[in-house]
Amino acid sequence: MIPSMPSAISLNTPIEDLHNFRIARLGDQLAHKLALALASHANKRNAADVTVEDLLNYLPMRYEDRSHPAAIKDLSDGMEASLELIVLRAHGYEIRKGFGRGPRLFIFEIKAHDAAHTGPEVIVWWFVSGRRAYEIVKYYKEKLVAGTRFITFGRWEWNAAKSTYKLQLHRPADELEILPSPEQQLLTTEEEIGPEQSEENVSDPALALIHVGRRVPVYRKLGPFNSKRVREIVHAVLTTLEPQAIEETLPDDLLKRIKLIPRTRALNEIHFPPPDVSMEDYERARSPAHARMIFEDFFWVTFALGLKRGRRAKESKAAPLRIDKILYNKIAAVLPFKLTEAQRRVTREIFNDLKSTAPMNRLLQGDVGSGKTIVALIAMVAAMENDLQTALMAPTEILAEQHARNIKRLLAKTPYRIERLTGSLPAAQKRELRMALKTGEINAVIGTHALVQEGVVFDKLGLAVIDEQHRFGVMQRAELRARGFNPDVLVMTATPIPRSLAMTVYGDLDVSVIDQMPPGRTPIETIVAGEDQRQDVKRLISREVKAGHQVYVVYPLVEESEKMDLKDATRRYEYLRDVVFPRLPVGLLHGKMKPAEKETVMKAFVAGEIKILVSTTVIEVGVDVPNASVMIVEHAERFGLSQLHQLRGRVGRGAKKSYCVLLTSDKKTAVAEERLGIMAKTTDGFVIAEKDLEIRGPGEVLGTRQSGLPEFRIGNLVRDRLLLESAKREAESYLSKEKSPMTAKLIARITRDTRFGLAAIG
Ligand code: ADP
Ligand code: MG
Repeated sequence: MIPSMPSAISLNTPIEDLHNFRIARLGDQLAHKLALALASHANKRNAADVTVEDLLNYLPMRYEDRSHPAAIKDLSDGMEASLELIVLRAHGYEIRKGFGRGPRLFIFEIKAHDAAHTGPEVIVWWFVSGRRAYEIVKYYKEKLVAGTRFITFGRWEWNAAKSTYKLQLHRPADELEILPSPEQQLLTTEEEIGPEQSEENVSDPALALIHVGRRVPVYRKLGPFNSKRVREIVHAVLTTLEPQAIEETLPDDLLKRIKLIPRTRALNEIHFPPPDVSMEDYERARSPAHARMIFEDFFWVTFALGLKRGRRAKESKAAPLRIDKILYNKIAAVLPFKLTEAQRRVTREIFNDLKSTAPMNRLLQGDVGSGKTIVALIAMVAAMENDLQTALMAPTEILAEQHARNIKRLLAKTPYRIERLTGSLPAAQKRELRMALKTGEINAVIGTHALVQEGVVFDKLGLAVIDEQHRFGVMQRAELRARGFNPDVLVMTATPIPRSLAMTVYGDLDVSVIDQMPPGRTPIETIVAGEDQRQDVKRLISREVKAGHQVYVVYPLVEESEKMDLKDATRRYEYLRDVVFPRLPVGLLHGKMKPAEKETVMKAFVAGEIKILVSTTVIEVGVDVPNASVMIVEHAERFGLSQLHQLRGRVGRGAKKSYCVLLTSDKKTAVAEERLGIMAKTTDGFVIAEKDLEIRGPGEVLGTRQSGLPEFRIGNLVRDRLLLESAKREAESYLSKEKSPMTAKLIARITRDTRFGLAAIG
């Protein structure tokens, strides 16, 4: 069979087919590796689905103006700059011998000057460790012989003792790039710096000139491909793509009105800045190319969400709910406390939805501890009084168990049958419960995701409450509907984001905000502490336990090194139990334990039998033990701010004074220190979430990846807020002209885009 040769590259060309075009020395194996590396960025499962468009959406992390490199004489202490340098001498020296006791550790050091000798020589250095450290050092030495030209980027620090500037690299493969020497440009191959001498990074000599004497993009390492190699491949693809192969996606009149550059130009210039545009704009993602790409990104997401919302407004549920005096009395009878003004306001908003014929799709936002659960409970009572079933879904079994316990207690005097249904129950019991749900005998069911997954059928589901959606998924609604229900849906989240952002991010949800804490709370004191303060921390724990309070000690659990972290947490637990607090009951809780074991531990903690609970982040979300007054977070620098805020929210739930101690290991970075400082400064979840959005981006903070909400490819909700507003305005304006041919065209385009799942939802 003769494979058909595609004639030209288009945006839809699979990356795996790129080798057919003989560009940038990309053979079929490398093309496959590139597709694999891009798949996760493009949120695609199969390497085969990764296209040229996905490659072009892999944007530079920064730019370097190599037509005007900085000079040594222009440096100042603490300044970030990229310098073009020439190696004077490079060598590695061992600072810790191996001898079977841990890996060897080297420092690799380059002494270098700039071509024009503008100042004293500088030192660039980094650590090399691991099993292959010696070989790697040897490899660097061979690559960086005297006279080698290279460019490096980072924070230069003045070293007074040596009267020289020093720069420490953390990922030399990303931060240092060897430049072709004039002779090398004619040679056949030239390998790149980096611990792995891999074929991925063998440069194409024909492209040597794209790296020097001009403005260049710098990319984060893409799988095994380093920045220089990505630059070559992107450059080759862009030069091979015919301009007409890049279709314009936005209406012409829109481009004119907002003054956006065409897509072809934007895609080219976002990778390779033209010589006449401000580099500062590029660094701040404010160049015309950035503006165009970010606007487009926002436009399609808000357009899709607006479209969904419009479609939902036209749906209707079986019957609107009756909200009357009798119901109010029933609710008043079960309330254990007086609602705050904010809780009353959001309850009214929810009641309005329940009374309407369109199904509710509401997001209930409220800081940790603001009292969302009781509001959900009120809505559930309203549905049950209307003879409808309700379901509450929590992200973890621990939480489902807690909700079930609380709700059963609060509704103990009512006739409703309330059950917990989670994956861990015995099969026979689950079968019995499913049957009772189907016949309508169960009024409220509380469980985990298993509720929608395990073929559960309701008799008359009226309301579904989804707790802590940022760990869970806003797409549950689609799942519910796929099972033939169209209930009212209330989604609760404790990642507070500014209302205007929320409306945009969750464009197809209405938003209610509880912006007030229940009375009687004493502010939590937050302390950032280092290794050397462990004694103080121990004293704090002893004192609080003596006063009858309880303590959490939380360890991060990072997926990549889960086993090690788990060992860490377990070992610390044993140490605390046997050595530090031998006379106190210490418990351990982590996600790998059997559900029954978890339940036992959690129950013992709730009952006050366990005083110190060592745990991984399974307790992060929602756990409510008012008697706990101390939260210790180990390796706090590894957590995101919103996560820390969640953790801190586990204490300070009663009237007594509470503490949150953020422990950092001795190697804390400046960024981590600054971030933790924010935690000590404010307890306002909105401020924290906004900072977190700035630092980590919405995908991480809001968990849009897991939730199935389309992720912005380039746009940053905080940095690009103005563009977001403008894009949303435009999207809505097109959507409001339902009959116009242009709107029909836009709808057709977005329905084809698999990112938004519009075709399926219809
Ligand atoms: P979250 O919004 O984080 O889910 P919860 O619903 O768990 O918060 O409520 C936190 C704590 O505050 C619970 O112990 C709850 O009983 C209590 N609480 C909620 N609302 C009030 C109120 N209006 N008055 C007093 N306590 C309240
Ligand atoms: Mg909660």
